[in-house]
Formats: sequence, C-alpha cells, structure tokens
Amino acid sequence: MMLTPAHASSSKFNEIAANLAATAKALHARGWLSGTSGNLSAVVQPEPLLLAMSPSGVDKGKLTAEQILLVDEGARVINGGRKTSDETLLHLEIVKQRRAGSVLHTHSIWNTILSDLFADEQGVAIEGYEMLKGLEGVRTHEHREWLPIIGNLQDMRELAGNIRAVLTEHPNSHGFLLHKHGLYSWGKDLGEAGRHIEILEFLLEARGRTLHLRSRGN
Ligand SMILES: [Zn+2]
Repeated sequence: MMLTPAHASSSKFNEIAANLAATAKALHARGWLSGTSGNLSAVVQPEPLLLAMSPSGVDKGKLTAEQILLVDEGARVINGGRKTSDETLLHLEIVKQRRAGSVLHTHSIWNTILSDLFADEQGVAIEGYEMLKGLEGVRTHEHREWLPIIGNLQDMRELAGNIRAVLTEHPNSHGFLLHKHGLYSWGKDLGEAGRHIEILEFLLEARGRTLHLRSRGN
C-alpha cells in the first residue's frame, strides 16, 4: 500500500520515532553521540522507501520523537520542519545495499582512535572475542570481523559511492569506520542495529585498550 504523508504520521511512524529518540538518549548516555554528533534512522516502509531519520543540529541527548523526520529515497523531507542531516544519503545507501531496517552512526572516542590507527590497513580485523557472537550470523568466537575504514569526505554523494563499493567488496561486514569520524552499523530492525553498535563499540574499545596496554609493556 502506498503510504501518503497522512499515513506517514500514523502510529507506525510515531512508534519508530519514539524508539529512535529513546535509542539516541541511551547512546548519548554512553558517550557515543556527544553534542549533536551521530545520527539514527529506521525504515518505516520499504517500497517506496520511507525512512524515519534524526534531524541535523539537534543535541542527541535531548532529541524528541517529534523532531524525527520522515524522508523519501531521495532524502527529501516529507514530514517534519527541520533540516535533514547531510549524512541521510549515507543511511539511504546502507539501507539499499544491506536491505537494512535501521542504521546507526556513532562518534565514540575509541571508534575515532581506531579509525585513524588502522587507516593505512584500510580496516580493522577483530577476532577471537566471545562478544563477536552478538553479531547476526556469527556462531563462534573464532569469527574474524573485518571493519573497513573509508576516507572521510564532505561530499556526501561521492562518499555514498565509496561506501557502496566497500560494502560490495566486503559483503559480510557488520559495519564500517569513516576515518577520524565514526562508526556505522545496521540491522534488520532498530533492536538489531542497536545490538550491533553496542557489540562493535565494545570490541573496538577492547582492541584499543589492549594495544595501549601492550605498548606500555604490561
Ligand atoms: Zn558523523
């Protein structure tokens, strides 16, 4: 069924918007969405695509359900008075490439540090950790997760193209890093995307702290 703007303010959108606002508060409390950084989205309708998306320039600790925007596949605002985040195009690209139901993007200290530390390798390998089993489809700690690192750009169309190429090259990755910028992950719904962000943030911090302790000779 075609979802008209009237339908878009229906209970499904309201429920998704409330869940996105609650998730933003939780991620902000962990220190992963400081200030206005990071963004969140969830699919309201797959065909034609309608996405509930956090707006630009709002403190993520104070984001309310009423501020969540409804955008179409061209990143045009259908519902809501605020400006879209420039990174809406990246969310739309990931939804299309991964058939994701939700995309989350965090700016944590550890994901930022590791995105720089491993930039020359163009990715971070994480393996051997029990926590890997929290990622969809992973059954054993022996899994090797490859988180690609993509150069940061201000041109979102060019960056979306680079993301498309990397996602095609690494079909099994559960996320990727933008250099000195942040982490993107996704899932079939907001619950799974939230779990993936928590797991990947844990693993990046564990990896980073281990490297640091080893470098001090402990
Ligand atoms: Zn960002």
